[in-house]
Amino acid sequence: MSQLQDKFGRRFHYLRLSVTDVCNFKCTYCLPDGYRPDGRAQFLGLNEIENLVGAFSEVGTQKIRITGGEPTMRKDFTDIIRVVADNDKIKTIATTTNGYRLEKNAKDWYDAGLRRINVSMDSLDPRMFYQITGQNKFDEVMRGVDAALEAGFERVKINAVLLKGLNDTDLPRFLHWIKSTPIDLRFIELMETGLGRDYFKAHHLAGADIRTKLVEDGWSLDTPAADDGPAQNFSRDDHKGRIGLIMPYDKHFCASCNRLRVSAKGKLHLCLFTENGVDLRDLLQHQDQRAELVERLHGQLATKKETHFLHDGITGVTQHLASIGG
Ligand code: SAM
Ligand code: SF4
Repeated sequence: MSQLQDKFGRRFHYLRLSVTDVCNFKCTYCLPDGYRPDGRAQFLGLNEIENLVGAFSEVGTQKIRITGGEPTMRKDFTDIIRVVADNDKIKTIATTTNGYRLEKNAKDWYDAGLRRINVSMDSLDPRMFYQITGQNKFDEVMRGVDAALEAGFERVKINAVLLKGLNDTDLPRFLHWIKSTPIDLRFIELMETGLGRDYFKAHHLAGADIRTKLVEDGWSLDTPAADDGPAQNFSRDDHKGRIGLIMPYDKHFCASCNRLRVSAKGKLHLCLFTENGVDLRDLLQHQDQRAELVERLHGQLATKKETHFLHDGITGVTQHLASIGG
């Protein structure tokens, strides 16, 4: 079957699949009041996930990131990994986690087929970590990172949202950490969501400013690989770790978009910020619905817009990224 492509020639090999909206952290830029259930949420079951992955894999998806909310809050998280790993067209299975359950489970997840892991750690100072996440779990998360490295993960990435007036002073500490530790740091520029206009105004730190600091510190921009996606990657010979900058406000950000998103309730999102999402769930119930599902995916791709409209302050319906996985 033909691969997913939009009318701007972009191809989509990468799916970010959210498996729950639930989260046990209260990151101030994401869920400042914690997770609030809306009724009895029914998140995608294993069978639905299998059918979804089956259809996406037939139209070119090779990488799946399991995300949330906090994906590891799912009791069947290891089974979800297995279901995805059972599909031999999927070459890479990744997850993004707050690291809360990592220390205990890193090995099991690796054995189930997980190969890449991003751990969100906004500060290397335990007090600031607590202030941002609402959880006094810095040491646990750090031990989780060590457990992941020991379990054999080829790449452990650390996601950090640098925030003006909060953890922005952590930058030198992060850089010092990766001098001898083979970690890939990902600095994600704060995105404005429906929740946080005031917060955004107070704490947004431009990705371009971070880039300037890195260049002044001797980091150089790597030549982008074909499947890099929107991150700008930097390295330095005398550091084992690398740095990726995710700058959604950069003017070229959308040109390299290679990802689609499906929410925990089975809605396809063509972009984080521009639309409501299209329900796929009615076509996830049986394997024999696959052709119809594939047709719906192609139909939707034809409507994907060239860019988001964040610069105009249009954040779409996404109240916070926990509902769609970031
Ligand atoms: N709970 C998991 C975690 O925190 O890693 C996975 C879901 S979380 C929504 C995925 C990523 O989105 C995290 O690295 C988080 O820092 C980032 N994120 C959440 N809200 C954001 C925002 N408004 N701007 C930029 N990044 C955000
Ligand atoms: Fe939870 Fe992740 Fe959002 Fe933090 S960023 S509140 S850990 S979903």
